[in-house]
This record gives sequence, structure tokens and C-alpha cells, in this order.
Amino acid sequence: MDTPIALITGANKGIGYHTASLLGARGHTVLLGCRDPQRAAEAENSLCETGADAHALVLDVTDDSSIQQAAEQITERYQRLDVLVNNAGIAGAAIPKGESTPEALRRMLETNVVGPVAMIEAMLPLLHRSPAGRIVNVSSEVGSIGSTLDPNSPLWQMPAGIPYPTSKTALNMVTAMYAKRLWDTPIKVNAANPGYCATDLNGHTGFRTPEQGAQIIEHLATLGDDGPTGQLWGHLWTNEGTDESGVLPW
Ligand code: NAP
Repeated sequence: MDTPIALITGANKGIGYHTASLLGARGHTVLLGCRDPQRAAEAENSLCETGADAHALVLDVTDDSSIQQAAEQITERYQRLDVLVNNAGIAGAAIPKGESTPEALRRMLETNVVGPVAMIEAMLPLLHRSPAGRIVNVSSEVGSIGSTLDPNSPLWQMPAGIPYPTSKTALNMVTAMYAKRLWDTPIKVNAANPGYCATDLNGHTGFRTPEQGAQIIEHLATLGDDGPTGQLWGHLWTNEGTDESGVLPW
């Protein structure tokens, strides 16, 4: 197979950056979708220094014209896309924790849900040209309704505002709907739970590293033909502190 082409949104830092690093180390050409040109160039330089074939792509997932331009550039340069990682997201740092105003919800849905849908719609023609297209929507265990309502889950004790978990629940349904739509194609669509990772998103309060979170995404981005589609898969957080991965309840 030709060198796989992977596009990761929000790749200038955190879990997205480390996902690009892991896929780059596996020999993928990694396209770094970043909304700030300066931060994009820095990420590209830093990944290229490690030997990765990394290319910055200025991309704001809330801006339709920016998404369209990115699709046109990929079409021109590569004619196909093998992996789309919808990683870009916002949470409490952008909107104060616990603030559950309608405006906060609107902003969260725009980036965390509408953004991935716009990305998938724009990139689908390119993904259809891949022999093994993979879409990974970076979700979260806080979007799992099953875990949220389980008194034995650590999430039961965790204070959270309405907007962020709601946006991830919606992203889970987006994942399920595209998995169903693309069931009879080679494209697999899954949602990833990186686990609670120390990044800017949560003021570095997470107990996992962003590299560990990125390993979850790498796994789903490189699934074989016999791999699953339509799953929420990733870190399983338990009160016992075990460190395992598996399928989470929707
Ligand atoms: P992070 O370090 O804050 O990184 C977020 C990335 O998203 C940044 O590159 C940011 O770009 C980018 N971004 C935000 N809005 C964007 C937009 N409109 N267009 C393009 N890029 C945009 O956070 P992270 O923890 O790595 O989060 C990555 C993903 O993992 C998110 O979807 C998050 O919800 C999910 N997640 C994180 C955790 C965790 O514990 N950290 C757990 C579960 C799921 P700028 O630098 O320009 O702001």
C-alpha cells in the first residue's frame, strides 16, 4: 500500500500532537490541522525533527471555508485520505467549569460536534478513495450515558457542567450514524476515549499522559480490515485504578 495519509485536527498540542507523532513514527504522512499558522508551523518543525513526514494545514473546524480549502489542498496533493482524526475540541478552559449556560452549550456543540460532522462531510470523497479509510472521533467517557448513570463508575463522583459531556454524547451518536451509513464500505468509524489525560484542556489535572491518550487513537486509526466499526473504545476508568482498554457503554 502507498504511504498512508492521516489528517489530525487540533494537532498543534496535547493528544492531537502526540497522535500525529505516533502515526508519523509508523510511517504515515501526517497532516496537522491547526487553526493558528504559527502554532501549526511549530508543530510541523518539531515533528519533522523526529523524522516524521509532517505537514501543517491551517484548519479551523468551525470555519466551513477553511475546511473546504483543506479538502482542496489534500485532493490536489494526495488525491485521497486514509485516516481522519477528529481530535480538535474545547472544554472547561474555553468555557468556565460548571457553566451550563445555553451560550456555553452552543459554543461547545459548534466545535465538538458540528466541526467533526463538517470535517467528515468534506473528507468523505477522499476517504472513499482509500482502500481502508478510518475515521476516529475523539470522544470521552464523560459522553457515555451508561457510565454517567453508573454509581460504581468514578464519573459518578465527578463534577461536570452540562455542555462538554453533552457534546461528547452527541459525537458518539454522530459516530454511530456514520458507522451505519458506511457499514458496507471499507471505511471504519469509531469513537475514542483517550482517558483523563493531563493537557491544557483540563489544566493538566488528568492522571494519564497525552501520549497514552494518543495510543488509543493510534489503535483505532490503524485497525485492520477485521477491526470493529461503530464502537466507543478506549481507556476503562475504574475505582480500582486498573489500567485497561476496551469497549465503553454508549
Ligand atoms: P488541548 O491540549 O486543549 O488541545 C485541543 C486542540 O484542539 C488544540 O490543538 C486546539 O487548538 C484545537 N482546537 C480547538 N478548537 C479548534 C478549532 N475550532 N479548530 C481547530 N482546532 C481547534 O486538549 P486535548 O486534551 O489534547 O484534547 C484533544 C481532544 O481529546 C478533545 O476533543 C478532547 O475533548 C478530547 N479528550 C480529552 C481528554 C483529556 O483528559 N485531556 C479526555 C477525553 C477526551 P489551539 O491550540 O489553537 O487552541
